[in-house]
Amino acid sequence: MQKILIIEDEPNIRELVLYNLSQNGYEGLAAEDGLQGLAMARSEKPDLILLDIMLPGKNGYDICRELRAEGSKTPIIMLTAKNEEIDKVLGLEFGADDYISKPFGIRELIARIKAVLRRYESNPEQEASANGQGTPAGAGIVIGDLVINSDSHEVRLAGRPVELTLKEFDLLRILAENRGRVMTRDQLLDKVWGFEYIGETRTVDVHVRYLRKKLGDEDNEGKYIQTVRGIGYKMP
Ligand code: CA
Repeated sequence: MQKILIIEDEPNIRELVLYNLSQNGYEGLAAEDGLQGLAMARSEKPDLILLDIMLPGKNGYDICRELRAEGSKTPIIMLTAKNEEIDKVLGLEFGADDYISKPFGIRELIARIKAVLRRYESNPEQEASANGQGTPAGAGIVIGDLVINSDSHEVRLAGRPVELTLKEFDLLRILAENRGRVMTRDQLLDKVWGFEYIGETRTVDVHVRYLRKKLGDEDNEGKYIQTVRGIGYKMP
């Protein structure tokens, strides 16, 4: 049974979500403040985390950032309040996989959980890249020193593994698959984050920046990712 941790200080939401998780065949766990939540995320190793932003003890952004900094790849769905429109973008920048605005319908929440888990399960990347082994380079897209393997979700630069988040990997893969073609920010948003994010182009820019940093490719005329002014990005 898949384990889902909800970190939320509002008891009504917590209980409603816990109840519906069990109704849908998940094992639900709950934490009511940020510190407890972070501790449980570490000790319980849930399959997915539902993370509120405004929390006593430690806020959701910090929890997300700390987990990612520790190398955790557990999918995270941020629960954002309606007046925190800007926050969803920030949440994605801190490494969350998706967000849902409060108040949300339970059916929508369960659908998001399923979608994120499905996306995550189709990427059995983790172990393969963590232990530094992996499938032969021949199986991937090769661009200079860079090898992108879509099957193992592994990226290597000059033979060394590069640790990417799910979104960074998808972004890189889509650019690589469309090599030589300019991809607009909206196209990238649609393909990597889903159509509901169209318009939030800052998310793409931020992730391109992270990606370039990890690839040691930080100028606009990059070796791997080029900025096409006013339009988007391309892989040369
Ligand atoms: Ca709250």
